[in-house]
Amino acid sequence: GKFLRRPLIAGNWKMNMDHRQGITLLQKTVWTLQDANFTFDRVEVAVFPPFTDLRGVQTLVAGDDLPVAYGGQDLSPADEGAYTGDISGAFLKALGCEFVLVGHSERRTLHGEGDDVALAKVQAALRHGLVPVLCVGESLEVRQAGTHVAHTLGQLSAVIGQLDAATVANLVVAYEPVWAIGTGEVAGPADAQEMCAALREAVRASHGDEAAEGLRLLYGGSVKAANVAAIMAEVDVDGVLVGGASLDAGEFANIARFEQ
Ligand code: PGA
Repeated sequence: GKFLRRPLIAGNWKMNMDHRQGITLLQKTVWTLQDANFTFDRVEVAVFPPFTDLRGVQTLVAGDDLPVAYGGQDLSPADEGAYTGDISGAFLKALGCEFVLVGHSERRTLHGEGDDVALAKVQAALRHGLVPVLCVGESLEVRQAGTHVAHTLGQLSAVIGQLDAATVANLVVAYEPVWAIGTGEVAGPADAQEMCAALREAVRASHGDEAAEGLRLLYGGSVKAANVAAIMAEVDVDGVLVGGASLDAGEFANIARFEQ
């Protein structure tokens, strides 16, 4: 898939890197890539810092004209009002965010967010001109029961069932098997391809060819420089969502340089 759609290499910092550390990490990552003559217009690089880093990231990216995109790790389903502790899509957009993660498995597990919440958050993101990166994927239990494809397609259809084809064509969906997140356990490239192909075919069936061919599908779960090339070689994998390995500038730069 890497030549059909622009590859997206995304770093999810989770609750790591305060606003000062975040600036340093982003600078180092971009400088490393620029020194290697990385072709940013061919491969899109994006980071997802904590909310408190976003102003600094905006200042750095705008001030030095860095060729990277960034986004929030979550957003409120509501636009404004009495929602203590929440952050709206409007606030993210005002800080220059292009993307926002929705329904990461840590939100689903630690905050009890179901598909209904994911849908409301995707709709909120779209209202504010943000590209949602919808995260889906099965737990170990589901994988062992052999129902991982049906489970993951269910998470997808709960959201895109409410969206039109043009919207789905611009969406990013990240397949992250929960058992492979932060565990060092990587789904094999064939597992990533199996699910990404199933997701794309489901989109084709429900929303048509344009949506299926436009949609970008990422794999996430213990991606590192040593395994990224094989994952990216799979035809339906358009990018990766990287957690732990995105906290090291050199490692994340090498992941972005998966073609070298
Ligand atoms: P990991 O996290 O790369 O540390 O496994 C991936 C993610 O949760 O997005």
